[in-house]
Amino acid sequence: MTSLNRTIVVGGGAAGVFAAITSKEVNPEREVILLEKSNQLLSKVRISGGGRCNVTHACFEPKELIQNYPRGSKELLGPFYHFQPLDTIAWFKKQGVELKTEADGRMFPLTNSSQTIIDCLLNVAGKKGVIIHKMHRIESVKKEQELFSIDSLAANRLILATGSSTWGHEMAASFGHTIIQPVPSLFTFNVPTSPLLDLPGITLEKVILTIDNYSQKGPLLLTHWGFSGPAALKLSAFAARALYKKNYQDTLYINWIAAKNEEEVFQAVINKRFELPAKLAARLLSFSKDPRILAKKLYRDPYNIEGTTLNKQEFVTAGGVCLKEVDFKTMQSRLCPGLYFAGEILDIDGITGGFNFQNAWTTGFLAGKSTGFT
Ligand SMILES: Cc1cc2nc3c(=O)[nH]c(=O)nc-3n(C[C@H](O)[C@H](O)[C@H](O)COP(=O)(O)OP(=O)(O)OC[C@H]3O[C@@H](n4cnc5c(N)ncnc54)[C@H](O)[C@@H]3O)c2cc1C
Repeated sequence: MTSLNRTIVVGGGAAGVFAAITSKEVNPEREVILLEKSNQLLSKVRISGGGRCNVTHACFEPKELIQNYPRGSKELLGPFYHFQPLDTIAWFKKQGVELKTEADGRMFPLTNSSQTIIDCLLNVAGKKGVIIHKMHRIESVKKEQELFSIDSLAANRLILATGSSTWGHEMAASFGHTIIQPVPSLFTFNVPTSPLLDLPGITLEKVILTIDNYSQKGPLLLTHWGFSGPAALKLSAFAARALYKKNYQDTLYINWIAAKNEEEVFQAVINKRFELPAKLAARLLSFSKDPRILAKKLYRDPYNIEGTTLNKQEFVTAGGVCLKEVDFKTMQSRLCPGLYFAGEILDIDGITGGFNFQNAWTTGFLAGKSTGFT
């Protein structure tokens, strides 16, 4: 096998493993070497979704699907016409892994165990002949004419799938790429001055949360440090950069009954036509006996955010390789021929619900397919 027919994939996460498998699937003759710095592949898959791995989301219309990506939505539209959640489901089914859909659209393996996904991917990678080098810490990467030399290995195609690691960003930058500053996404809000901290565990089905120009509707969870739940996580993703710039000090406004306007809340208050959990209602309604003042509060109730808490179920990094510099038909760098990107190394991130892995499967698929053919 000559190095002119070899792909090296750096990073053994979801994106790198899927890219390596796809490359072998489209061209079994091609040599594919996967380099992983740690002694374990797919370590984020293992801990994902609380150990259950939220593989993808039951959203099958690309135009709708892209709404779940605060960064990367425009760029992912084309790729989703090539590989979207239906393809993910079909791919795993072909390998004998059934996925199930939960009421909110999140999809998990039927076994409820991320190990099923790991075993499946590693079995297929082994069967297809992907060569895996674990504990491989790369010392140097150089490009001379059309060949990349990675330590003592050479290849004519290089896929960087190193997630949010600084090394991957530095490597991309060394090939001329712009790195959009990485900042955390998907976190919950700390509100130490909230008068509701003694009501942890209360959930509301539908509120509207607003920070600056960003608003999100959905379920909210009261916690002993502030606010969490799907609406808070979604808002944290869309406002990730704005909040970072303000050092996570900002005002969160809660529209407790997801009303369209203050008048609607006023009517609900005077006619007692709204539903709130009893303990929370007692607390909020004790604020004033004047229905106008109460309506104002229920419509736009301010809370001072002072920092954030990491969401343990799922978190990602916003930022990474600038998307304008990548061709999303192939995932090839527009600046360095032969160099490809897949997964979280790119300036793409989704909200919770399986969208981040879908980005890894889709961009991994395209990078693998393009390098397989060349
Ligand atoms: C706790 C947690 C739970 C999550 N749960 C979900 C979920 O249920 N659903 C969902 O959609 N998303 C989830 N996510 C997000 C999801 O895990 C990531 O978006 C996804 O793993 C990104 O895949 P990746 O392959 O791009 O990067 P990673 O999974 O980060 O893989 C990158 C790999 O590259 C390796 N690497 C880095 N540098 C080098 C180097 N120099 N040389 C060799 N190897 C290197 C790393 O060791 C790693 O194995 C979760 C994230 C976290 C942290």
